[in-house]
Amino acid sequence: MNYLPAKLKKRIAVVGAGPAGLAYATIAAERGHQVTLFDAAEEIGGQFNLAKKIPGKEEFYETLRYFRRMLELHDVDLKLGQAVIAEELIGDLFDHVVIATGVVPRKPAIEGINHEKAVLYIDVINGTKPVGDKVAVIGAGGIGFDVCELISHSGSSGAVDRNVFAREWGIDFDNHPRGGVTGVEPVVAKTDREIWLLQRKVTPVGRGLGLTTGWTHRLSLARRGVKMLNAVEYVKIDDAGLHVRREEKTEVLPVDTVIICAGQQSERSLFDRLRDSDFPVELIGGAYKAAELDAKAAIKQASYLAAEV
Ligand SMILES: Cc1cc2nc3c(=O)[nH]c(=O)nc-3n(C[C@H](O)[C@H](O)[C@H](O)COP(=O)(O)OP(=O)(O)OC[C@H]3O[C@@H](n4cnc5c(N)ncnc54)[C@H](O)[C@@H]3O)c2cc1C
Repeated sequence: MNYLPAKLKKRIAVVGAGPAGLAYATIAAERGHQVTLFDAAEEIGGQFNLAKKIPGKEEFYETLRYFRRMLELHDVDLKLGQAVIAEELIGDLFDHVVIATGVVPRKPAIEGINHEKAVLYIDVINGTKPVGDKVAVIGAGGIGFDVCELISHSGSSGAVDRNVFAREWGIDFDNHPRGGVTGVEPVVAKTDREIWLLQRKVTPVGRGLGLTTGWTHRLSLARRGVKMLNAVEYVKIDDAGLHVRREEKTEVLPVDTVIICAGQQSERSLFDRLRDSDFPVELIGGAYKAAELDAKAAIKQASYLAAEV
């Protein structure tokens, strides 16, 4: 993309400093607009601050380092720790407002969903809720897989330590055997936890993951001993654990923790308030479309719109 200088310079407010808001703010500012970027959190990054904690996704630290530098280079006025309300945007402070408020996790309607065993993936990744030794993960989309990766993993990650990567995938980087593989059984530490990764869909677990990388995620979890079940109906959560129905049989998974990874909904409350007021406003990223793991789409959409504004 060629980002050309803006013909008419605008004062732009971008709300939400996740990947979408960051891309929009930095590109619009690079083109000469005066941009203020708000986030309720104390750091930029939005959900990338969760993603970067997953073993194998450490590269997102670098994405955020890149955006931090771009914000500085292009003089974006960054306001962290500010949960913006509509009244602060309407008026003559800004000519244009962009809402990039991301998503909120979806809580499925299961009996006992408010039981203390049931926790949201956000709290698990942030370490604000403890995870027991026996765990059921509800939802086997990208986030369910990531959460299993996190709670079944020990030691350093193969993404940052090439020796670990080589051991886990049976690769020899030094002696160049045929195809790079040693032929020796890969060494993968089994998890100390008992983990069930569950989905309602009847398709094989993990079918919806990336075509070229999905098999690696399925294989690494299976090697660590994570049990994956499809066609599961969630009956209830109580002191005994998670009650499920599968193949016409009901059973209790005797878990201490049930991690909810049951999708996300766009966070549009601010956008809806502004739209009602006829203020010029654009909606981008997860707030526009809550696609589970698609920062690329969010960044692309933000970049195109920022190139035009
Ligand atoms: C564990 C995990 C792993 C992931 N892995 C990948 C991956 O491998 N590949 C991939 O492409 N995607 C991945 N994703 C998804 C990716 O992170 C999202 O697609 C992306 O973050 C969406 O960007 P966004 O800017 O739209 O929203 P978000 O990242 O959700 O950011 C929204 C921001 O808005 C702020 N906000 C909300 N309301 C207000 C308000 N009123 N005032 C001020 N600020 C507000 C929030 O604090 C937040 O910082 C992952 C997500 C998670 C949770």
